[in-house]
Amino acid sequence: MFDVIIIGAGPTGCSAARELACTGYHVLLIEKFKMPRNKSCSGVLIKRSMDLIRKYFGENVPAYTMCTPTDNQGMIFTNDKGRECRYEQEGLNIWRDRFDYWLARKAVEAGAELRDETAALSCEEQKDYVLVNLKGPSLYVEKAKLVIVCDGVTGSVKRKLVHTPQSYITTYQTFHKGSIDLDYHYFYAYLQPQLSEYDAWFNVKDDYLIFGVSVKDTNRLKHYYSEFITYMKKHHNARIEKQERAEKWLMPHIMPGCPIEYGKGRMLFAGETAGFLNPMGEGISAGLECGYAAAKAIEEINLSSELDISAVYSAYRANTSALRNYMRRQWNFVAGTADTFGHMKYTGFQVQTEHTF
Ligand SMILES: Cc1cc2nc3c(=O)[nH]c(=O)nc-3n(C[C@H](O)[C@H](O)[C@H](O)COP(=O)(O)OP(=O)(O)OC[C@H]3O[C@@H](n4cnc5c(N)ncnc54)[C@H](O)[C@@H]3O)c2cc1C
Repeated sequence: MFDVIIIGAGPTGCSAARELACTGYHVLLIEKFKMPRNKSCSGVLIKRSMDLIRKYFGENVPAYTMCTPTDNQGMIFTNDKGRECRYEQEGLNIWRDRFDYWLARKAVEAGAELRDETAALSCEEQKDYVLVNLKGPSLYVEKAKLVIVCDGVTGSVKRKLVHTPQSYITTYQTFHKGSIDLDYHYFYAYLQPQLSEYDAWFNVKDDYLIFGVSVKDTNRLKHYYSEFITYMKKHHNARIEKQERAEKWLMPHIMPGCPIEYGKGRMLFAGETAGFLNPMGEGISAGLECGYAAAKAIEEINLSSELDISAVYSAYRANTSALRNYMRRQWNFVAGTADTFGHMKYTGFQVQTEHTF
């Protein structure tokens, strides 16, 4: 019997696993793919992520996880009226396969057991524990007093437990050799409605120019992508050579007020699975913070005696209250700068101790 089984070795799962293992809990971290695994991502670590890494992992992000240019100096976005806004901020440019693998190894160093190439198929709550059905080389079962489900936007474990309708944004990005008249140290986002149904973006990693668009209707993907490439050629002199790689992925479609699903019974939800995601898809900091908050909530209760599950949820909600307010402020900010996100305007801010969701 494990104390806690954590499903998904992304930033959320790794920060939860490391924190619990450091405190002496018997932790199993399950990952569907062989680590290091790719994850479609722009790989920008904003300052908040860098600070959280230092706080939770006790060191700086190692250089080998980074790509050139290693520093990100902020975001330049063009709003739906074509006006450019520049936000300077210290940040890093990392590859997610290397970064997430480093996080997972830190959890292992702290004492967590990592089982990669193992998919969680489903969770079944029993009276005093949870049965987790797993598929590794064979089908088998593990037991834990509590489970943290953080299998990300493509994960299916939560969908088998709760039936909340969820809509998604489809992302598509391509990697090219070439050149462009833009400063490679920035991440560029474009909110003009003719270029995407959500946002379009450009950034540079090692030798690659990366162009991406996101849509609500996948049938419109090719159309927007082609419009965006034409725009980048015309406005920024993009000279694009052969396409070396393309990635299609999903993002949770965040709704007004940023509703969060905290879990069901002994199965807590965290990270993107719970609905934590900041505008322009900045989700690493939210994952790190929320995974840690879930771990801290578990540490606040006594796992060896009769488990008071409502106490875990109260602590978890309280621990993530500042994060939720941050997330709403961020979406509010974007709502104010582009009509595309105008519906995200949120005025019901509350102080730190809300228990309403
Ligand atoms: C195109 C794109 C660009 C982005 N760019 C940025 C960026 O620059 N900066 C930023 O901060 N955020 C970015 N994000 C968002 C960020 O990637 C996510 O918010 C973040 O990874 C969420 O972390 P997580 O741990 O909750 O989930 P994930 O990182 O998705 O981790 C979930 C893990 O669970 C595993 N898994 C899935 N199913 C199972 C299963 N059944 N059993 C076991 N394991 C399973 C997955 O393989 C994965 O390893 C971007 C997202 C996209 C789509």
